[in-house]
Amino acid sequence: MTYKAPRGTHDVFGNNALGMSLLEQKARGIFQKHGFEELRTPIFEDAALFMRSIGQTTDIVEKEMYIFEDRKGRKLALRPEGTASLVRAFIEHRMDVLTPAGKFFYVGEMFRYERPQAGRYRQFHQIGAEFFDNSSPAADAEIIVLAQDLLFAIGIDKINVHINSLGCQNCRPLFREALVKDFGFVENLCEDCVRRLEKNPLRLLDCKVDSYKFTAVPQMSDYLCDDCKDNFSLVQSLLKSAGCAYTVDGKLVRGLDYYTRIVFEIRSDAVGSQDALAAGGRYDNLVEELGGKHTPAVGFALGCERVLLAAEKTGFFNSLKKPEKIFVAIADQELFNEAFSFATKTVRKGLKSNKDISVFGPVNNKSLTNQLKFADKIKASKAIVFAKTEFENGKVLVKDMKEKTQIEISINEL
Ligand SMILES: [Zn+2]
Ligand SMILES: [Zn+2]
Repeated sequence: MTYKAPRGTHDVFGNNALGMSLLEQKARGIFQKHGFEELRTPIFEDAALFMRSIGQTTDIVEKEMYIFEDRKGRKLALRPEGTASLVRAFIEHRMDVLTPAGKFFYVGEMFRYERPQAGRYRQFHQIGAEFFDNSSPAADAEIIVLAQDLLFAIGIDKINVHINSLGCQNCRPLFREALVKDFGFVENLCEDCVRRLEKNPLRLLDCKVDSYKFTAVPQMSDYLCDDCKDNFSLVQSLLKSAGCAYTVDGKLVRGLDYYTRIVFEIRSDAVGSQDALAAGGRYDNLVEELGGKHTPAVGFALGCERVLLAAEKTGFFNSLKKPEKIFVAIADQELFNEAFSFATKTVRKGLKSNKDISVFGPVNNKSLTNQLKFADKIKASKAIVFAKTEFENGKVLVKDMKEKTQIEISINEL
């Protein structure tokens, strides 16, 4: 019996692991500059939290959530996204009082039962941020610029920022009505859309099955109230002044119910499909809907796997610097302790001086020839050989594995 990773999951190793941790590292740096603090939430939550926040009629809640009962019969769900959990934590820990800046970021695994394809998995990684208690268009613009900078930091510079406004409680109902009226005339809507038409007509706009039938649908921009119009144009002028190029996209609605006003997606031609690398928007009512005080908020999330797929296509991985590999070998078994102690010291020195090295060896009971063969296999650039005669004079042999040359060096000089 052999085992394989469950369908839709993947092991992250090699360049992908390097890329993943570099992406996280860059993200942490950018978040810190913008004053965001990390918030880690559990991987599973009360299933009702997601149903309530993401929306009953969304694909995520209808088809994609991993829901299970624990041994006490509690209905739990693996988190399909980060925002609901962060809002829950924000309310639970009274962060409106404790962390008045209201800026949080998260990094971690999410779970959705989707059809696996390139860059899309059932367990995947997201990096995201939420900016609570700020209704200013500057908060929207900051989130969009931040998401954009994060993609730039990992070498993805050919991107398209799509933005739209979904309006507010005053103007969106009019748009919904117009949609219901128009979609009512479309023939042979898919099963999902027939249901959405009743419950959440906005969701029709991103139906993957029927989208080709919706050529002349109403645009939210024609229904925005004056406040929403002002807000939308302010966000746009801030983006312009930050040098962020964008496209207004009237068809953009996002797959979650909680958005209000600004929504955005960042796409790249580097990954073939229409799917976004990063996306987000404003959700001014969600905190209240989940039991908190009225707290306007805006956030985004970025899909690490898709971003790394795009980064790979731009040749980003080739530019990653790998550490220099050093192999410590012994020509005489009796020097094993000395060689081991040297290897340990070298690692510690490297840690102190932040030197980019990896140290391998020593191994005992292997001939020097075999040790050096192994050093070649792991692509070590240098082998440091402990040999009896040289060691008695306080020296070791340093072999250049590529040039096949060697010199004697005093141990103290290394
Ligand atoms: Zn409005
Ligand atoms: Zn449909």
